[in-house]
Amino acid sequence: MTDIALVTGGTRGIGAAIARSLKAEGHEVAAVYHGNDAAAARFKQDTGISVFKWDVADEAACRDGVAQVEERLGPVSILINNAGITRDGVFHKMSWDNWRSVLATNLDSMFTMTRAIIEGMRERRFGRIINISSINGQKGQIGQVNYSAAKAGVIGFTKALAQENAARGITVNAVCPGYVDTDMVAAVKEEVRAGIIAGIPVGRLGDPDEVAQAVSYLASPKAAFCTGSVLTINGGQYIAN
Ligand code: NDP
Repeated sequence: MTDIALVTGGTRGIGAAIARSLKAEGHEVAAVYHGNDAAAARFKQDTGISVFKWDVADEAACRDGVAQVEERLGPVSILINNAGITRDGVFHKMSWDNWRSVLATNLDSMFTMTRAIIEGMRERRFGRIINISSINGQKGQIGQVNYSAAKAGVIGFTKALAQENAARGITVNAVCPGYVDTDMVAAVKEEVRAGIIAGIPVGRLGDPDEVAQAVSYLASPKAAFCTGSVLTINGGQYIAN
């Protein structure tokens, strides 16, 4: 049976690389996006992967969206919680909106998406859940109190959920990328980006495919004994364990 994989934020950047990689492994993939219709249409045309549009921060939209995916493609057995945003700025000037939107998209989405899918996985006694955290959730980052808090939350969510569901054949793991060459990092000022690269021991940004390959492994049957883990992929920039 073909497994159905759902990748949030699957039309651009790291998520798009994950969606392509899972498709290449033989999975049927659904990629969820939020607002960039042009990028989603290009991605769909290039890959033949089904795209769906909803806001992962909206609980009702996630329930409806997942129902739509499952009706069209079948039960989701691989969930990649990848969608994320940044709204950077020092905390003493941070607005409530910039706090809420980052927490909603990066952390509330762990609840909204996973809650909509996990009961089916538990009934079928199989599931793979991979949550994309960040180096900055591990070490904290100036100008990203909101993002660092959300991404650290993703790690706690992963570890607790892994323990609750291990006996049901569901693995739950987190991946913490360092700086990867996507639109999110391209949005950082040139001089700041140069400083970031100077701080990465391998001397370059990561490639989205380098994250996607690790996710594909965690999604595979081979990774059945790997649950509750936090995998860093950061060019040696922060060695956490
Ligand atoms: P991009 O900005 O390149 O792509 C983000 C994707 O998420 C897009 O498909 C976007 O949709 C989607 N998305 C954003 N908000 C929502 C939402 N509310 N509902 C549904 N979809 C949404 O991000 P990256 O590929 O760089 O990052 C992917 C993940 O990896 C994020 O969680 C990020 O925090 C994390 N990460 C990234 C790093 C990096 O260096 N790039 C480093 C560490 C972690 P649309 O196209 O419609 O906007």
